[in-house]
Amino acid sequence: MNATKRMLLSGNEAVALAAIRAGVALGVGYPGTPSTEILESFSNLQGKAQWSPNEKVALEVGLGAAYAGARTLVTMKHVGLNVAADPLFTAAYTGVSGALVIVNADDPGMASSQNEQDNRRYAVAAGLPMIEPSDSQEAYNFFLDAVKLSERWNIPVLFRVTTRICHSKTVVNQNGNIDDAAAPNFIRDIKGRVMIPGYARLAHKRLRVKLAEIEQWNESAPINQEIRQSSELGVITSGISYVHVREAVPEASVLKLGLTYPLPMDRIREFASSVSRCVVIEEGDPCLTDAIRAEGIDIDSKQEAFRFGELNVERVKQIINDHKPIEFVRPPGKPPQLCQGCPHRNVFQALHDFDCIVSGDIGCYTLGVMPPFEAMDTCVCMGASIGVGLGLRHTLPEAQARRVVSVIGDSTFIHSGITGIAEMVYNPPSTGHVVMILDNGTTAMTGLQEHPATGRTLDHQRTHMVSMEKLCEAMGVDRVEVLEPTNFDAPLQSALKSNDLTVLIVRRPCILAAGKIRQYEKAITHEESCSCHQEQEHHESKSH
Ligand code: SF4
Repeated sequence: MNATKRMLLSGNEAVALAAIRAGVALGVGYPGTPSTEILESFSNLQGKAQWSPNEKVALEVGLGAAYAGARTLVTMKHVGLNVAADPLFTAAYTGVSGALVIVNADDPGMASSQNEQDNRRYAVAAGLPMIEPSDSQEAYNFFLDAVKLSERWNIPVLFRVTTRICHSKTVVNQNGNIDDAAAPNFIRDIKGRVMIPGYARLAHKRLRVKLAEIEQWNESAPINQEIRQSSELGVITSGISYVHVREAVPEASVLKLGLTYPLPMDRIREFASSVSRCVVIEEGDPCLTDAIRAEGIDIDSKQEAFRFGELNVERVKQIINDHKPIEFVRPPGKPPQLCQGCPHRNVFQALHDFDCIVSGDIGCYTLGVMPPFEAMDTCVCMGASIGVGLGLRHTLPEAQARRVVSVIGDSTFIHSGITGIAEMVYNPPSTGHVVMILDNGTTAMTGLQEHPATGRTLDHQRTHMVSMEKLCEAMGVDRVEVLEPTNFDAPLQSALKSNDLTVLIVRRPCILAAGKIRQYEKAITHEESCSCHQEQEHHESKSH
């Protein structure tokens, strides 16, 4: 991206550009479609960006930076917020000194996710303001607004984008002003930051006062927009739904909400009463509908069938005309499958041939469930393969328990598989257990990102590497073996028969990443040898 004034950008790129403009000191996150490109773009624009092992850690790092007074960006996909929920709820109490904007990408229609949870619920549950842009221009402008709001009320802000906004491109003008970021500086605030019950009770009250003030501000905030046209039909909407509404019913009056929690109820009441019929159009759960109806405001809403999948112009017309919903049809596309040349296809063939009960995980290898392998029996969330596998081992009759294998990728193992190993060592099933870490040397599913076990940072520079084999050994696993995907049948069979706790690390780079990995390593080696020479010359010139 060039730093010109008018640009065609995806929502993800627009957020990254706004973060640069706002002087964000640190961007941190975990890759997850559709949010991944935000940090990559931020890094390409010379922002300081880093991948964390998982979203909880990312939020904690971001929180620390924001405690230090910095402007901070944390990114993740919707299910990532479940992982980060523990610090999230208490971060609402502690607040921040600088700015903390948590960009959270929802995936209505589940283009690449295991559920279509609507994270607007998190704003209400945690008590955090939620901002929702409807295109790239708003992603840019609203990000600056989010930073200002976070600094004004010393509160983390949830910034919700959805797949369409993340990946579609619209024109962005770099308008909008924001003051320069203050220099980081630690100011001690023990009562505000240490959440023992005595301090947390007061913090909760402070949070509710802030939310009441933000709600009042929201009543006239320019982040919400009104288009006054028809007095017959009015639509209340937010996010990408606004774009569909404008096309479906161009004659309607529209109240488009940019800050959707806490809601400006007086403004909504006034708008609803100014039209003969007021309809709420929202993708996903009826969050706005429930909140508005709870205030006794008379609105129409969608039928239950429209809760599923993304909205589009046709579906919005059906809602407004109260027509029977037509089933959401995903546009035709190539069914996902493990790449033809994937080095780990053998593993799934063997798991199928050995009739294993496979407790699977998130990532490329979820696709082991598809034909021809159909070698996956469960898949719940990041890291669940190990815990679920252990549960099966503890409970099934012995003959079946011995067939249970947990399969997890390297990035997912680092994300949340390590605690599963701790559980396995601590509460071993009587038949032992077998965990296979399919190490492809990257985070393949989200587009080949680095992680702590690759030994390279987000921008592919050398860093310390977490050794998964040493880690498992140190945790007390009986048997840890590193194998080639062409040579693991015998070790797998032997592990299934034994009562040992076994971790088989099946290592071969993803074919899509192998070439790039070689390039990164070559560049690092070249740089290291150059700096070594320079150092040597420096020493020699000093000694002369
Ligand atoms: S992206 Fe890489 S790891 Fe994933 S299926 Fe394809 S080759 Fe295998």
